[in-house]
Amino acid sequence: MKRKKAVLVIGAGIAGIQASIDLANMGFRVHLVERTPSIGGRMAQLDKTFPTNDCSICILAPKMIECAGHENVNLLTYSEVLEVKGQAGDFRVKVLKKPRYVDVDKCTGCGECVEKCPRRVPNEFNVGLDKRKAIYLPFPQAVPRKMTIDEENCLYLTAREKGRCRLCEQACQAGAIDFEQKEETVTLRVGAIVLATGFDPYDPTPLKEYGYGQLANVITGLEYERLISASGPTGGELRRPSDGKVPDTLAFIQCVGSRDVHHNLYCSSVCCMHATKEAILANEHYPNLKTFIFYTDVRAVGKRFQEYITRARQEYGVAYVRGRPGKITENPETGNPIVWYDETVLTEAEDPVRRATSMEVGLVVLCQALIPHSSHREIAEKLGLKLDEAGFVDIPDRLSHPVDTNVPGVFACGFCQTPQDIPDSVIQASGVAARVAELLSGSL
Ligand SMILES: Cc1cc2nc3c(=O)[nH]c(=O)nc-3n(C[C@H](O)[C@H](O)[C@H](O)COP(=O)(O)OP(=O)(O)OC[C@H]3O[C@@H](n4cnc5c(N)ncnc54)[C@H](O)[C@@H]3O)c2cc1C
Repeated sequence: MKRKKAVLVIGAGIAGIQASIDLANMGFRVHLVERTPSIGGRMAQLDKTFPTNDCSICILAPKMIECAGHENVNLLTYSEVLEVKGQAGDFRVKVLKKPRYVDVDKCTGCGECVEKCPRRVPNEFNVGLDKRKAIYLPFPQAVPRKMTIDEENCLYLTAREKGRCRLCEQACQAGAIDFEQKEETVTLRVGAIVLATGFDPYDPTPLKEYGYGQLANVITGLEYERLISASGPTGGELRRPSDGKVPDTLAFIQCVGSRDVHHNLYCSSVCCMHATKEAILANEHYPNLKTFIFYTDVRAVGKRFQEYITRARQEYGVAYVRGRPGKITENPETGNPIVWYDETVLTEAEDPVRRATSMEVGLVVLCQALIPHSSHREIAEKLGLKLDEAGFVDIPDRLSHPVDTNVPGVFACGFCQTPQDIPDSVIQASGVAARVAELLSGSL
């Protein structure tokens, strides 16, 4: 069989970007499909990365630019895979390109249109902590640097018959606004497919005991990342939602919805480390701030991870409390959350009664489970992929072929196949590129 020398990569987080760059460098034509208007994935939302505290976007942005500018990469952002047919070596894939209502060849990314747009809606990039406009760039380093009109919120598109607004069109000197743009379907022929659709955070609202959504000063890990980030809604100041004050104590709760028979049984793998990083960052910003991490076990298995935890303890005074809080209530006078827990490492002599105890803190951060992306089941079905009991891509032979799925010619890397951090996602992405190269050169 003659094998097509092109590859489809689905999902442009760090895993999909790395796989695309490696494959493009080997001379393969790569079609990289990303459902949102920009590539980057979750790594773009992070402030720093453990265990080196490198600036996340400073590592990611050059890769985003390299990937998008590569002569062998065809970037299909704001697009979705509709249908997949064929087999290893020769797949036919239909991709839907959603209308941005902006001519990307004309848009200069200047932002004049954003200034004029009167409609403000919750900003997904900042996890709803602030607002964006209906015409928007998802984040300052977005690639491509092109505006998108969100058709569900644009005043003109939602009230078209009344012909209201069109202020963005008047503001755009480049004449890039195109309200007549329609969705488009393209058909691609590729020899192999790489799935890299990543994760979504588990919604902790149904876990009523933690008070998320009811207590103002209970937030999630990703919300914290945006708050502590200089490019975030508070310019990097840790201001708590209820009153904008900087808290004097901070509690991180581990395993919220993970390692839990009622929610997700598995360990989300990165939370012990990201909570440690976030506690260190809090102390770097505010040296007098006291931080507590309520943990089940500290899982620090990567290179220099244990040393990172030791540094957090010794240099930043981070206190690790072994106990899974059963309840969070609120002090109505201060708005402070009160964490109720049982410290399980105390000996009988230290705590003969084993009473639940409580701690009042300024802000609680829930390190919630991380689950397969919401679109993951649908795309897996289109590809004929088996999923494991938690919904991640099943890898039939993890020992010998750790990136091969049950469908020949379809490979998976990054968080969509198992919870993992950025370095492991990058390793898997390069592994996938090597497997695809073997297949398309006829060695498999
Ligand atoms: C609070 C928090 C802090 C963290 N801190 C660190 C840290 O300091 N260091 C570290 O190593 N790791 C950290 N992580 C983990 C890190 O975010 C992941 O390891 C990494 O993002 C995984 O990359 P990925 O490319 O597999 O997935 P993602 O980053 O989730 O990217 C997946 C991409 O696929 C796209 N996509 C999804 N479905 C489709 C579809 N159907 N079609 C097309 N595109 C699709 C998504 O829009 C997204 O762009 C942290 C995680 C959290 C939650």
